[in-house]
Amino acid sequence: MKNRSVPFFNYSHVFVSQEEQFLSIVQDVGRRGAFIMQKDLLDFERNLAEYTGAQYTLGVSNATDGLHIALRAAGIAPGDEVIFSSHTMAATAAAIHYASAVPVPAECGPDHLIDPKSVASLVTSKTKAIMPTQLNGRTCDMDALQALADEHDLLIIEDAAQALGSKFKGKMAGTFGLASAISFYPAKTLGCLGDGGAVLTNDPHMYEMMKLYRDHGRDEETGDVVIWGLNTRLDNLQAAILDYKLAQYDDEVNHRRGLAASYQERLGDVKELVLPPAPDSDPNHYDIFQNYEIEAERRDELKVYLKERGIGTLIQWGGKAVHQFEKLGFDVSLPYTERMFTRCLMLPMNRSLSNDDVAYVCAVIREFYGSN
Ligand SMILES: *Cc1c(COP(=O)(O)O)cnc(C)c1O
Repeated sequence: MKNRSVPFFNYSHVFVSQEEQFLSIVQDVGRRGAFIMQKDLLDFERNLAEYTGAQYTLGVSNATDGLHIALRAAGIAPGDEVIFSSHTMAATAAAIHYASAVPVPAECGPDHLIDPKSVASLVTSKTKAIMPTQLNGRTCDMDALQALADEHDLLIIEDAAQALGSKFKGKMAGTFGLASAISFYPAKTLGCLGDGGAVLTNDPHMYEMMKLYRDHGRDEETGDVVIWGLNTRLDNLQAAILDYKLAQYDDEVNHRRGLAASYQERLGDVKELVLPPAPDSDPNHYDIFQNYEIEAERRDELKVYLKERGIGTLIQWGGKAVHQFEKLGFDVSLPYTERMFTRCLMLPMNRSLSNDDVAYVCAVIREFYGSN
């Protein structure tokens, strides 16, 4: 087998793959002096609303800030508890923390998404909301979570940072709860050239409140400052780039789903591995494969073996669930999630990856397990 280099993610590809178009967008926006909250942002927000089916969208500086202002706009108050899946970015819990609430970590299930049974066991009289992460480009079983929310009178705020375009029962991630946030970090499926994010909601009051928080608490019409706000706006230039990329987003998703099908075909019989659900293997789920996160026996050895053969992999979040970051002060054990974190590994999954790359990665993995 001939060695080839398969980086986990190629950041410069985000730019050079469409360099000419991006440069002309920069020129166009720059010459108009359209830097903050101009037409390009409004266009992008409208197109994003149309794509997702959300009633309202707002560009924000990043998804972390988006989650923070969504929680504040929802009226989350000091002492409130918000349940989240510990298999998520620390950002999810940080947003809860900075909204003055208590982040309560829950277990994930076999598909690596929040486990509704664990959520049910964690509800107390202080619980105000569930914040599920639509992880790896897959949407949770929102029926199960909605049933819990109805039973206990809880809000749902989705961390849909990784899930633009992903669906559960035909409905898009980010449109189930009271509000949600999506990330446009460069390595996300819809990545901009820096930080960026959006919040989505179907609730007019949430929309007005999040709009105020986004822009210094200023009333758009009067200019009056009516609440203590923040500055968490999406740059108009990034919005212009995102609007251009959103128009081709179906290609991005189809490319990733094709790669996932290829991984499945080439690795489906390797008994030392657990693969993510294959595309179209469950009619309730439409996954967009932000990540291809497997579980593997002898995971750390496999990672080294792949690295020595030119293949980049990543263990999500630096190898720990949120509750395992000791200095954040959590004092819980989540055995399922902790075991999962000794086994999980993300294989390359991105726009610059070819089918030949996937074939090579899979051949090396088969060689490692002696399953040629
Ligand atoms: C990327 C990510 C975030 C944070 O998004 P930013 O736009 O970088 O703030 C939050 N949650 C999850 C699950 C993410 O993957």
